Amino acid sequence: MASGSAKPSKPKARNSRRSNQRKSPDSGRRSSDALDAYTAKRDFERTPEPAGTASHKGDGNSFVVQKHAASRLHYDFRLELDGVLKSWAIAKGPSLDPAHRRLAVHVEDHPLEYGSFEGVIPQGQYGGGTVMLWDRGTWEPVGERGADYEGGHMKVRLRGEKLRGVWALVRMGGKARDERRDNWLLIKDRDEEALRGEPEAWLEENAWSVASGRAMEEIAEAKDAVWNSEETGPERRKG
Ligand code: MN
Repeated sequence: MASGSAKPSKPKARNSRRSNQRKSPDSGRRSSDALDAYTAKRDFERTPEPAGTASHKGDGNSFVVQKHAASRLHYDFRLELDGVLKSWAIAKGPSLDPAHRRLAVHVEDHPLEYGSFEGVIPQGQYGGGTVMLWDRGTWEPVGERGADYEGGHMKVRLRGEKLRGVWALVRMGGKARDERRDNWLLIKDRDEEALRGEPEAWLEENAWSVASGRAMEEIAEAKDAVWNSEETGPERRKG
C-alpha cells in the first residue's frame, strides 16, 4: 500500500541563516542576502514597491532622496554602494546649514530599482503612505578617507537637483555598530553650496518631485506609481 502523498518535512537549509548570530558587514557582497531584511518586511502582492534584486554590477554611483509620509514624515536618503541602495531615514530632512547635524537612522538596504519608485504604499503595509522622489543624482567620495561605509565615515560630493556639494555621513559612536540602533549624522560641509538658516523654509520651497513635479498631495490623490511591479516600464503612447 502506498504511503500517500505526505512528504517528510525537512528543515529548510536556508532558514538556518536567520539565526541570531551577527552577520559580518556585507561589504562586497552582491547576493540577494543584502536584501533579506527589505524583502522580509514587504508583501509584494500588495505594495507597488519593487521586489528587486541586488545588482551584479555594484559599481554605480547614484543617490536618491525619497520624501516619505509614513506614520511619521521623513526623508529616506539612499546611496548606491555594492549593488544596493544603502539607506538612512532622516526625520527632519537634510539641511544646507553646516550647523545642523541631522540624525540619520540607518535602515535596511534597498534594491537599486527602488531609486525610481514614487507612489503610494497601501495603508497596513510596511511604511504605508506616500513616497515622493524628492531628489536624485550621482555621488562620489571626497578626500583621503572618502566613502568608508564600514568605518562609519562617508564624505561625499552630491550632484543632485536639490542636494549639491560636499556632505558628511558619520556613524555616531564611530566604528562600534549597534545594529538595533545604528544612528548616523548627516552634515553639510562648509562649501559654496552651504546655506545658513531656515532649513524648514528651504524644504518647503523644494517640496516637489524631481520625477513628476508633483506635490505630496497630488501623488497621494493619483495613487499611481512611477515604478510598478506589474509593468516592465512606463508605456509611451503615440500622438
Ligand atoms: Mn521610509
